[in-house]
Amino acid sequence: MARYLFTSIDGGVSTPPYSSLNLGDHVGDDLASVAHNRAAITKYLSLKKIIFMNQVHGNELVEVDSESSGIITADAIITQSKSIGLAVLTADCIPLLIEGERYIAAVHVGRKGLVSGIIPKVISELKNRGEARLRSWIGPAICGDCYEVSIEMYREVIAIHPQAATTDVQHSLNLPRAAQSQLESLGVAVENFEICSVESPHHYSYRQSPTTGRMAGIISL
Ligand SMILES: [Zn+2]
Repeated sequence: MARYLFTSIDGGVSTPPYSSLNLGDHVGDDLASVAHNRAAITKYLSLKKIIFMNQVHGNELVEVDSESSGIITADAIITQSKSIGLAVLTADCIPLLIEGERYIAAVHVGRKGLVSGIIPKVISELKNRGEARLRSWIGPAICGDCYEVSIEMYREVIAIHPQAATTDVQHSLNLPRAAQSQLESLGVAVENFEICSVESPHHYSYRQSPTTGRMAGIISL
């Protein structure tokens, strides 16, 4: 059975505006602080290492193992290796973690990823590898009340994902609900924690403050 964790802003050494458990090395924070924070989480979880992605709002999926190194440009990583953690970094986007019988996955699901079908892509890849029973966790992300977009963008997204709809007046998108609905329609069990990264004082939010840290959803076998 896999283990998973969603980090908050608490418990690290980064200083403002990244205080304190920033795990993103691309946001302008002191890299020594980020390395310290990453090492602390790796130790806390008793893992050999944690693999982070260079996330680009695409739908590339990469399989990794304990030998993987260098920059992995992707928005989804999967593995069947034990003792390594797979991490997805977020500050409002959805950190999605998936567990099968042999494989686990960490997936970065933003608006673009949701629209370009990263979820069905990952699920069909796992099913092709023989995974029949999948469970998933949706971590802290921007909620349907907070994610207001232009009316044009709103209509474009809800045409593909009706479950993301709020109202035409509000024109904000409920991406966690859309992701949950899509996962369930693909036969995947979902636990959606429904923590809003904008409203929670314990989570980083890009919407609230563009210069900020990144949290991680981490899963391991
Ligand atoms: Zn909210």
